[in-house]
Amino acid sequence: MSISVIDANKRYGDFAALDNVSIDIPEGSLTSLLGPSGSGKSTLLRAIAGLDTLDSGTVIISGNDVSRASPQKRDIGFVFQHYAAFKHLNVRDNIAFGLKIRKRSKAEINAKVDELLDVVGLTVFQKRFPAQLSGGQRQRMALARALAVDPQVLLLDEPFGALDAKVREDLRKWLRRLHDEVHVTTVLVTHDQQEALDVSDRIAVLNKGRIEQVGTPGDLYDR
Ligand code: ADP
Ligand code: ADP
Repeated sequence: MSISVIDANKRYGDFAALDNVSIDIPEGSLTSLLGPSGSGKSTLLRAIAGLDTLDSGTVIISGNDVSRASPQKRDIGFVFQHYAAFKHLNVRDNIAFGLKIRKRSKAEINAKVDELLDVVGLTVFQKRFPAQLSGGQRQRMALARALAVDPQVLLLDEPFGALDAKVREDLRKWLRRLHDEVHVTTVLVTHDQQEALDVSDRIAVLNKGRIEQVGTPGDLYDR
């Protein structure tokens, strides 16, 4: 599902966190919001999610104006930097959680969870508890859990930010593979240019609350 943000403004006191931002995010793309700390990336992501209200502007998801809709009504999966897993549930049950509260059938839940465990490479760890996983494995579990309920949109706010460089690189490959299999419209917030270049179809470069450039990695950077 495509996302459009039109003329978004958000101020904190005198400070413009978003200064008339407009962006179109194509259906099925993996788009990165790239910029330094404080450039407005999280604010834009939270506005798409409905976690923050804009001072003015419009958010459209698959043709519907959701500017006033609650996060629950927007059908979005989230993964944040510090992912809160259920400590008392094993990997399998963490991934299944959203399906269970939606009262899906056992057969459907099992099929979906098996598929996602495979895609994120956690089949052999499915009985482990979050504390028994590495940071990278935990974030892969987080991706699988967010995707389990087939959201229209997946929003990732520095999902690999707390991890070391080697693990981040590994996770980029997982994210890219996951996206190639699932094709859900994905928006990734990152301050890491290499990460944006490696995983994205499109990159929007933010600075001081404005979008400075949008394009494919090849459009924006000589490689
Ligand atoms: P980024 O994600 O690019 O690091 P943010 O969108 O988190 O940037 O923040 C943009 C600017 O808005 C920053 O200067 C930040 O300090 C400010 N800001 C964000 N949230 C708040 C808030 N709740 N109250 C005051 N200022 C905020
Ligand atoms: P990020 O690493 O995603 O940019 P921050 O650490 O800047 O996030 O902000 C974390 C939370 O604190 C967010 O919910 C943001 O809205 C809020 N926040 C950021 N800057 C400020 C600020 N200057 N005053 C109050 N809240 C802020």
